[in-house]
Amino acid sequence: MPESPGLVPINWDRMLDNFLAMLSVDSYYGDEERVAAIIRPALEPLGIQFRNDAAGNLIGCWPGRGRGDGLIMLNAHMDTVQPTPTMRPVVDADGVRSDGSSVLGADDKAGLAAIIEAVRAVEDAGLDHAPIELVFTVGEDVGHIGSKAFDPASIEARTSFVFDAGGPVGTVVMRAPGQIRCTATLHGRAAHAGIEPELGISAISLLARAVDRMPLGRIDDETTANIGRIEGGQASNIVAPTARVEAEARSLSEERLGQQMAAMRESVADAAADLGGSFDFEEHRFYVAYQLSEDEPAVALADRAIIASGLTPRHVSTGGGSDAHEFNLKGITSVCLGVGYVDVHTTEEFMPHDALRDITQVAAQLITQA
Ligand SMILES: [Zn+2]
Repeated sequence: MPESPGLVPINWDRMLDNFLAMLSVDSYYGDEERVAAIIRPALEPLGIQFRNDAAGNLIGCWPGRGRGDGLIMLNAHMDTVQPTPTMRPVVDADGVRSDGSSVLGADDKAGLAAIIEAVRAVEDAGLDHAPIELVFTVGEDVGHIGSKAFDPASIEARTSFVFDAGGPVGTVVMRAPGQIRCTATLHGRAAHAGIEPELGISAISLLARAVDRMPLGRIDDETTANIGRIEGGQASNIVAPTARVEAEARSLSEERLGQQMAAMRESVADAAADLGGSFDFEEHRFYVAYQLSEDEPAVALADRAIIASGLTPRHVSTGGGSDAHEFNLKGITSVCLGVGYVDVHTTEEFMPHDALRDITQVAAQLITQA
């Protein structure tokens, strides 16, 4: 990349080494300490003191140089979506990919690598910068466990940048959906399938009718719904007494989310009433929708950092969840940024070198421009 005057010089070899070292350890939820053990020695020589909170999140503070204002928090998560016990990252001319044995884990180790190298690069360049708090979370991909447990009083920043969105570098998430998960259990009545089937009520038939009536897929511009898992029955010669369906709904609008969940429940209730069965319906709030204002100062800072990196900001709505949901809910304005990883949550996951350079530059610009 040509070094235009405003760019912070990045140490590419150091960053790639650090990224590969983090990719090479398995840090599925519960094992994030293995990544923390790589992060700490990389940043502690800069005077950053780290501590772990009760959830296992790694929290550090880097004092400002030349100024005390503009405090921001930078975040990425240390866990991966699945274990990567034997995965060895493969580097080619275009980027870094998985050997195919599991996901790569660029989600979210590319976010970690970008933040770590940005801090080192700003330090090496001797540039003035705002105080920076670092929060590296655990268990994001299994349900925002670290960020849900995070105590906002444990840091001072009330503005944060979460390096964990899909899309090219330059992506700025302005709206993100709320999500509710639900489990419907249909109760019928068991009977011998050959001798007296008329005495039974098939819970599988109840389930089929409920699912058939349920609005699913892309419901409207803001709302989606999906059934992800069904189970039920015991054997082919038993009229099934119970069956279960696990589903979710998401919407950028909390009102529409509530309406969608009510429609899903009603489908189950109607099916049970039609066929003489009964049901339980349990809802579990996963995360709450948020929306950032176009004149939010944190968004303006993200745009400045992206433009200073030679890129173009793209303000988007997303369908996904991230730790930004939890920080926003806790009163820490949180902007989720596109990291540039590709095909995450698959064994084809790929991190282009260009994207890694760009997201690191964006992180460095956030640090110097905050
Ligand atoms: Zn992620």
